[in-house]
Amino acid sequence: MDRAGKRPDNLTLPTAYQVEPSDLGRFTTGHAPYRVKQLAEWLYRHPVLHSSQMSSLPPDVRTTLEDQLWPFTVEIEQSADSGRTRKWLFRAEDGASIEAVLMGYASRTTLCISSQAGCAMACTFCATGQFGFERHLDTGEIFAQVAYANAALRDNPIPDSPQRVTNVVFMGMGEPLANYDNVVGSLGRMIDDADMAARAITVSTVGVVPGMRRLADEARQVGLAVSLHAADDELRTTLVPLNKRYPLGDVVAAARHYFEKTGRRISIEWTLMSHVNDDTEQASKLAAIARNLKAHVNVIAMNPTPLTPHTPPTPDRIASFVEALTDHGVQATFRETRGKEIDAACGQLRIRSAANTEQGAREQ
Ligand code: SAH
Repeated sequence: MDRAGKRPDNLTLPTAYQVEPSDLGRFTTGHAPYRVKQLAEWLYRHPVLHSSQMSSLPPDVRTTLEDQLWPFTVEIEQSADSGRTRKWLFRAEDGASIEAVLMGYASRTTLCISSQAGCAMACTFCATGQFGFERHLDTGEIFAQVAYANAALRDNPIPDSPQRVTNVVFMGMGEPLANYDNVVGSLGRMIDDADMAARAITVSTVGVVPGMRRLADEARQVGLAVSLHAADDELRTTLVPLNKRYPLGDVVAAARHYFEKTGRRISIEWTLMSHVNDDTEQASKLAAIARNLKAHVNVIAMNPTPLTPHTPPTPDRIASFVEALTDHGVQATFRETRGKEIDAACGQLRIRSAANTEQGAREQ
């Protein structure tokens, strides 16, 4: 299948990131064949924000690429935590929104990317889920988020952090395993073309069981995070509608299969919500699952969103939940949320953009 994936019919000009690397000759017509390799190096190894920065390429090639380089424009760019967290809301030509968040740490620079515009999973606590599904992102649109962040880092590095994206997590908008071919295509671009380490990439899923099983068979073995949020079917079904189709037992069995097949430890994601899933009963049920899977648990406090009723627990309740897990012998980490003041949580920038548009419309 075409790794660039399908685009809406009215868009006929694919951008440089939306054609196969081997097909880049269409941008270097009339020039020697080695120009294709040069262009691929600019796109995949040393991305730049503007084609005018591609200094080794002939001027006419740079001009052609001026408006055919990125598959999106930047609608909002924000930074927080003294520039260590940066967030982009990109806009594709057809209006689809794409969010990515960059986080600089001492030993890694992590980019959180989107696999779909919107999401069909409708998890009750997730801002993206409230908006519903817009469309799948194609392979190029998924990979271009990584390239764009690298290009931005080149011009404006994060002090004391690696100056390239070292880690990628599919924890932005969308359910990656519901857009399987394009996500796996983008993994190929990251690992084969941009030379990233498979172990530094994590696909996060809400529990699309057939996708988890397929991913276990892929040659490129990336990390898998499973968003559990509840340790029994009764509670999980109220938070994650997909649990009706793929109940907890099936999700855990698929996670176990992934671990056994790849040898890669699963991480379990747990968004903690006050008096919903933060009690000791859930903690001990979760501990049993995590121990059995030899999984690591990442606990994150719910990021409040305007459209959802849930709230984050108090620091005391968070601490006792994590303590209960460690008391049961589970490796658990509480992750501080980055970039709160820039709405860096899932789907939130998009909400702000929509609110601004609505406000704008009212003011006119
Ligand atoms: N669909 C995939 C990836 C996108 S969501 C998945 O579900 O894993 C990425 C992570 O953010 C998930 O673990 C999700 O549960 C979590 N998340 C969603 N909304 C959140 C919120 N409001 N606060 C904190 N975490 C949230």
